Amino acid sequence: MIKSFMSFLKESPVCFYAVSSLKKMFLDAGFEALNMEKHWELAPGGKYFTVVDDSAVFAFTLPEDLKRIKAPVFRMIGAHTDQPCLRIKPCGQISQNGYCKLGIEVYGGPIYNTWLDRPLSLAGRVTLKSDDLFNPRPVYVDLKKPVLIIPNLAIHMNREVNEGVKLNPQIDLYPVGGLMESLPEKEEQMLISALCRELQVKPEEILDFDLFTYITEEPQIVGFEEDMLSAAHLDDLVMVHTAATALIEARPVTGINVFCGFDHEEIGSRTRTGADSSTLGFILEKISLALGKTREEYMSDLMGSFLISGDVAHATHPAHPEKHDPNQTTKLGGGPVIKLSARQSYVTQSKDYSVYEQVCSAAGVPVQKFTNRSDQRGGSTIGPVTAGQIPCRIVDMGIAILAMHSARELMAVKDYEYTFRSFVTYYQQ
Ligand SMILES: [Zn+2]
Repeated sequence: MIKSFMSFLKESPVCFYAVSSLKKMFLDAGFEALNMEKHWELAPGGKYFTVVDDSAVFAFTLPEDLKRIKAPVFRMIGAHTDQPCLRIKPCGQISQNGYCKLGIEVYGGPIYNTWLDRPLSLAGRVTLKSDDLFNPRPVYVDLKKPVLIIPNLAIHMNREVNEGVKLNPQIDLYPVGGLMESLPEKEEQMLISALCRELQVKPEEILDFDLFTYITEEPQIVGFEEDMLSAAHLDDLVMVHTAATALIEARPVTGINVFCGFDHEEIGSRTRTGADSSTLGFILEKISLALGKTREEYMSDLMGSFLISGDVAHATHPAHPEKHDPNQTTKLGGGPVIKLSARQSYVTQSKDYSVYEQVCSAAGVPVQKFTNRSDQRGGSTIGPVTAGQIPCRIVDMGIAILAMHSARELMAVKDYEYTFRSFVTYYQQ
């Protein structure tokens, strides 16, 4: 299982590719693609998915006998497809002191220094001209090779570097894409030229792009006993992959199983592909209407429905246990983690999160709890924002990792299987 997850990671360097990898998984498993802008016809026992704006994907499976459906009608698991990284600005190439650099904007909250001195590539979406004004032609692109690097300043020029260094994204995070002297004559824009070569188009055909950096080092199993996985993008592709695989494996019996792969969690979820939008509600309502239910029936079903909001959790750090509540350690390999917060930055209702405890116990899987230190705010995730859109019951949980938002994060191999088993049990109740 961990090998298939590692291949998924390699094929999913940015959200658009995570969504196309998921699309492939669903198609291979016999799911039918649905268009959000068209009428839906659904059949008992059917398996379906729909993609929104290339970067979010929702999939669901129906029981063979629709009469057996009872509350919770929708059994959902949500996760997010995006990760902190650098987004290329449209300003074009900056030529300075013999270097060709690209302008970037920080996407989400990466740990800046982990992006230095690493070979970086670019992937995302390029929008090409078309004859239809409202529908330019989007295409995916992944340059697949290291094309950029952000060099550190030598210690001799920054003697205090090991005391801690502040990096300013406008100054310190410009990736270098090459040397001016190597550029072929008349080729002024190295990025556009590379895109044209890759996509076999002319520069004037390219209207715009959504391009993100990613590190080219592959995921690796680490440890004498091969018990840890070091990789980029564990947050949150590990939850995306466990949930999508569980949806494919599980046979729905008394509920409609739903998988939600939202985009834009790292920047607050307030987009139409994010969790803080009406999109999931529209999808659930379209399912209800296609099954012949009224809007009132849909609203009643929704109130009793259940969402597991899956996003990674903080494991207790080996060098900094003091950053955690000393009475609440979270172990790598200790099973999925329920995340709790009195501020409701994680949805915290004991009657709801105890449901997931019972699920884990039924699956024979250990389960842990995470709370922030009482003097720390901590983070948040898709659970609370989804609660603002869909009034269903929610638990926030996730696999424990270290180095969250570093260019490479660390998890325990075992937690993949534990979490997957808990999700299959949940979907098959
Ligand atoms: Zn996350």
